[in-house]
Amino acid sequence: MNYMKVVPCDIANGPGVRVTLFCAGCNHHCPGCQNPTTWDPNGGQPFTDKTLDKIVDLLRPDYIQGLTLTGGDPLYQENREMICKILIRVRHEFEGSKDIWMWTGYTWEELIQQAAEELKYQTIPTTVTIIRNINVLVDGPYIESKRDISLPYMGSSNQRVIGCNKSFALRRPVLWWTPEEKKGK
Ligand code: SF4
Repeated sequence: MNYMKVVPCDIANGPGVRVTLFCAGCNHHCPGCQNPTTWDPNGGQPFTDKTLDKIVDLLRPDYIQGLTLTGGDPLYQENREMICKILIRVRHEFEGSKDIWMWTGYTWEELIQQAAEELKYQTIPTTVTIIRNINVLVDGPYIESKRDISLPYMGSSNQRVIGCNKSFALRRPVLWWTPEEKKGK
């Protein structure tokens, strides 16, 4: 996996102060995408064990609420193995004390389908490992005709901010906030 940059103190991509990793690679190619320079999976620089160590150290201070994975698309197919490794390490180091947010161009339903196929064909189940180890998923491609800059954390109204644990428990995508909470954000 290649990555574009690591932002050590980010207040734009999720709640609180966060460490954000911008991955390289995206095959959604949404018209109007703000970050087309991130589409090339060979762009940026290789993500190494040293990069992961650096991210873990950046996450240590108490004022850091959590980790955000965005891009590009962290779930670009060739990124998934490394994303698994990152998530397992961060969970091991911090257990539940840091929350993990992810932005992807895939929908929740597509990811569940992909996870089911991985299990069926007994390939390494990276997708299910990933979605089981993140707290919040902002899903779906950016759709220019549905652009709405008033929406928190989303660029277009088709996207959703999904709470992963509850969605797994109820077997359907559940929004991270209630509509009432959303109005106040
Ligand atoms: S999924 Fe995100 S990074 Fe990829 S093209 Fe769409 S808006 Fe851009």
